[in-house]
Amino acid sequence: MTNQKPIRKDRVALVVVALLAAILIPVLLSSSPGADEDPGNGLVVSDGGGIAGVSATTDPTPEVNPYEILSHTITEGDTLESIARALGVGVANLVASNDLDSGQSLTPGDTIRVPRTGFLYRISSGETLSDIAASYEVTVAEIASANNIPDPGQILAGTLIIVPGDPQVAPSTTVANATPSGSPSFSWPVTGEVVSEFGYRTHPILGTWERHNGIDIDVPEGTIVTAAASGTVFNIDNDPDGIGLAVYLAHTDNFYTVYGHLSQIQVQPGDPISAGQQIALSGNTGLSNGPHLHFEIRKTPEFPIDPLLYLP
Ligand SMILES: [Zn+2]
Repeated sequence: MTNQKPIRKDRVALVVVALLAAILIPVLLSSSPGADEDPGNGLVVSDGGGIAGVSATTDPTPEVNPYEILSHTITEGDTLESIARALGVGVANLVASNDLDSGQSLTPGDTIRVPRTGFLYRISSGETLSDIAASYEVTVAEIASANNIPDPGQILAGTLIIVPGDPQVAPSTTVANATPSGSPSFSWPVTGEVVSEFGYRTHPILGTWERHNGIDIDVPEGTIVTAAASGTVFNIDNDPDGIGLAVYLAHTDNFYTVYGHLSQIQVQPGDPISAGQQIALSGNTGLSNGPHLHFEIRKTPEFPIDPLLYLP
């Protein structure tokens, strides 16, 4: 038994050498050039995750609405090219959005509008979103998303929408033939700065990224609110978790307007209303971050559209 100890020591030494070899050989192999798939290297890369973290904080995602409507008031000397360059859009998008290929000329004082992405298109009678999508090589889902359309089957003639595509894909006759007939002529319900536009935004109170169904016009509490067009009072409502005290007016051609965060309502459901008639006083009711008028234009009672496309 006594001479077994050296043997055992030798064996232990051999085992240790074998184990070292088993450990060292793969390590040596892995440190050779080209050993990209070694998990050790993966660990080194993931340690460098701090770098990715830094680059993420130095590169915040800007919350720019790609479908924001840009506008420009024509002044002497403007050309389509100069306006397109100033707004950062294509000339064709500008032409299509403002029916300028139907022979209309630019008059100083006129306001022209174009979305940051795509172009404006007025839906003709009998046309579906699928027709439009096919014409301009975009998907129905893309159009629905660009316009916050909850139900792509519920789209009506006369509505202006953003087509997130290239207007030159389809023959321009479709745009030239579309006439803005039918919609009532809307006026501003109050005079003030638009502090929040239609479309997706970070909610001023909830902090969530969500759809804004109208525009917010900055006016002090108690400002006289007038009807944006003639019609009848469709509904009055008080939603403390939404637009507070609100008036809903019905107009011709299935258009509706909504006036929210009011302090006082001065009409009753069913009342006939003339354009410009006083209907309420503005306020700060409901989920509001300060006195302003929330104003919507809808096509059908359920489908909000961008009021800035219709207001003068
Ligand atoms: Zn609002």
